[in-house]
Amino acid sequence: MGLIVQKYGGTSVGSIERIEAVAARVAARRARGDQLIIVVSAMSGETNRLIALAGSISGDPSPRELDVLVSTGEQVTIALLVMALQKLGCEARSYTGAQARILTDSNHCKARIQDIDTRAMQGDLDQGRVLVVAGFQGVDDIGNITTLGRGGSDTTAVALAAAFQADECQIFTDVDGVYTTDPRMVPTARRLDRITFEEMLEMASQGSKVLQIRSVEFAGKYQVPLRVLSSFEDGPGTLITLEDETTMEKPVVSGIAFNRDEAKLTILGIPDTPGVAYRILGPISDANIEVDVIVQNVAEDGSTSLTFTVHHNDMKKAHKILQSVGEELKARSVTADSNIAKVSLVGVGMRSHAGVAAQMFRTLAENDINIQMIATSEIKIAVIIEEKHLESAVSALHSSFGLEEGSGTLS
Ligand code: ADP
Ligand code: ASP
Ligand code: MG
Repeated sequence: MGLIVQKYGGTSVGSIERIEAVAARVAARRARGDQLIIVVSAMSGETNRLIALAGSISGDPSPRELDVLVSTGEQVTIALLVMALQKLGCEARSYTGAQARILTDSNHCKARIQDIDTRAMQGDLDQGRVLVVAGFQGVDDIGNITTLGRGGSDTTAVALAAAFQADECQIFTDVDGVYTTDPRMVPTARRLDRITFEEMLEMASQGSKVLQIRSVEFAGKYQVPLRVLSSFEDGPGTLITLEDETTMEKPVVSGIAFNRDEAKLTILGIPDTPGVAYRILGPISDANIEVDVIVQNVAEDGSTSLTFTVHHNDMKKAHKILQSVGEELKARSVTADSNIAKVSLVGVGMRSHAGVAAQMFRTLAENDINIQMIATSEIKIAVIIEEKHLESAVSALHSSFGLEEGSGTLS
């Protein structure tokens, strides 16, 4: 007998029929003898609906109240799932984040889990009940409801698996595993049997929303065996693993991530003197705006320019700051552009292979796609391109690096 944590995402619990199908899967597993902790998301579309309701009252709702509001989505699902389990004769009990004693900091809307007091739930588990826990939510030390950021139910599941030292944490979703790239964009994408934590973390942070970044960080830190599976069909899914000896045989590129969430800001014609980058990026960071890719260039006339990307929600704010810095520095121009996308190749095999960047740039050139910015890490190469080229860039790179079923690797 083992202890398994399973998480079912929004689409998997998107209707009463689907909640009943999840209940049937859970009851069958319980009948095989395993102890089960089930984490559920809100029914699909519900979190967006609640956020839109808040938006219809205020453009800037209080984060505390937003958390009180959006956490209700998951509360609906836990109760419905427990009712469905009870109908099947499977003993179960629901837990909100606070009842499950998922303790977080007080950073509303993006709280971090600090501790889970397992005692409250352990008694029910010992009695043979299935625990059904609301994902995405916790409670701070003075009892405020908090939420963990979009996609946060993944992190609830992994944190519970770590706290209970579960045998496996299974993330059930609407695809049957982690693919070489988003299968909704590239239909020839291939399911991976395994991917390392490091690669999965890079894929998630570069835009693959199949797992929330924090959940992968947690799983890596506490060595939680993590698997992504389909809630609609049986199959092995994708196991997220520690890097192992089979890495030697791994393809150079394991996957391609992309996102459309960034915007690019440029300040042109500023003096090329020490401290200039700080004078520009200091006020951006003081305004709590995260900067991703940065490029600095010196022009022939000795002036310099700086281009950087931020989340597109922060573009207006960053543009305003840059305009006032630009006046001080007598910049030639300040521009903002949200028509961009980022495409990233990810693979631990890159560490031991040269030529990946050259092949990436050649492929983009052959498809007439201009590269605006480049960023690299040991296991990633990312480029910023015009948004309208995103699909063709991802498809071309996917086939150039042999990521389809039955293809080779680096050419
Ligand atoms: P859930 O509601 O179950 O949490 P999500 O929508 O958060 O589901 O995540 C699943 C989605 O992630 C898939 O439908 C797919 O479109 C997207 N996705 C993005 N990149 C990948 C990838 N590399 N492999 C699999 N799915 C991906
Ligand atoms: N319901 C939340 C969201 O839509 C959390 C989750 O689904 O993981 O972001
Ligand atoms: Mg998700």
